[in-house]
Amino acid sequence: MGKKTITQEKCSFCGKPGSLSEIMIPAGDAKTYICVDCVENIHHTLNELGIVIPNSEVKQYGNKNEEEPKETLPTPKEIFDYLNQYVIGQEDAKKYLSVAVYNHYKRINQKTSSKDDVEIEKSNIIMVGPTGTGKTLLAKTIARLLKVPFAIVDATVLTEAGYVGEDIESLLTRLLQASNYNVQEAEKGIVFIDEIDKIARKGDNPSITRDVSGEGVQQGLLKLLEGSIVNVPPQGGRKHPEQPMIAVDTKNILFICGGAFEGIERKIAQRLNTHVVGYSTDPAKQRIERDNLMKHVAPQDLRSFGLIPEIIGRLPILTHLQPLECSTLRRILTEPKNAIIKQYQKMFEMDGVKLIFNEDTLDLIVDKAIEYKLGARGLRSIVETIMVDPMFEVPSMANTKEFIVTKEFALEKMKGSWQ
Ligand code: ADP
Repeated sequence: MGKKTITQEKCSFCGKPGSLSEIMIPAGDAKTYICVDCVENIHHTLNELGIVIPNSEVKQYGNKNEEEPKETLPTPKEIFDYLNQYVIGQEDAKKYLSVAVYNHYKRINQKTSSKDDVEIEKSNIIMVGPTGTGKTLLAKTIARLLKVPFAIVDATVLTEAGYVGEDIESLLTRLLQASNYNVQEAEKGIVFIDEIDKIARKGDNPSITRDVSGEGVQQGLLKLLEGSIVNVPPQGGRKHPEQPMIAVDTKNILFICGGAFEGIERKIAQRLNTHVVGYSTDPAKQRIERDNLMKHVAPQDLRSFGLIPEIIGRLPILTHLQPLECSTLRRILTEPKNAIIKQYQKMFEMDGVKLIFNEDTLDLIVDKAIEYKLGARGLRSIVETIMVDPMFEVPSMANTKEFIVTKEFALEKMKGSWQ
């Protein structure tokens, strides 16, 4: 589209004289013009309707406040240090993720030159570990550091096209929503696919019945993971003909998958038995193997679990998360930047009250979380049970400057629900 400064013409849309607009854009007929303000308005309206024009020239007039993409990438060490502020333990996963994310964004920023045809391939990530151990938290924290759109989707809602459930492409809808339908931003985002283990193949023989939420979905995911242009329904759900689609290129979208893969230890053990224990009769060695089985998770275990080899091939970075021990849970309560205890202290501070948790109260909270097998997710509900009465009463107690949560107080509040 040509651009001209024409002072004598009026905007055909709002009637503004050319003298008041910096630029008037002529249409092909040389009679119709549009001013910059009207271009911006149209762009804005299209955005609101969820219609985005990729690489549009309009973009150069609109989005003036849009943040420039981050030029300098944090190093893997910096990414690791940042994750450390929010995620306790899980050192292996943090290290793998830091390197993978760094390489991924290096790859995106790679200038393609004709002299050098080394093309760095996309490296999506899969994290294996029990529920509530920090998989989502890791992915979320990385997205926050990189300031890229981030979406969490649950693999269990996806089904093969034509069946009840959501189309596989709809997982990109969340990313579009997270980027406010800015396709270019979404195309650099991160998608966290949770519960990937739930779409494992149901049986060893896929041909007996149609496996619409298992292998069928895995097949559908392939093209997204490897990078292709996908038509995404802007409102999600099922695609239907009258709904306009948004084309999204997944080439530079980083997919991080997570799953508990319950029972995968058995597959690892089976494999290790044939390789290791077959030659070793040392019981101590065998015990260590059992305790650290997750550490040995390998692509072939995912395959025995029911992921198809093509999917495993598209998730080349495999890392694991450890179950949270008592000492880790204790640290999670107080150490992360937005630790649960810090959040409650902040809330009380806003009312001018210093909130103190005794050490044995914190131990009690951790013990209960372990007793009820709730992991880190349980910590918040336990603290909430203890704190609901103080949160109700303390703001109206004028002279209270300090509130101490003793073990006895906590036990009293937990009566009924946590005993
Ligand atoms: P999942 O592994 O099931 O994705 P999440 O990342 O959603 O688990 O963890 C649930 C909650 O538990 C998080 O929001 C966080 O508050 C807490 N949490 C879990 N693991 C950790 C950890 N390693 N460090 C800090 N907080 C954690």
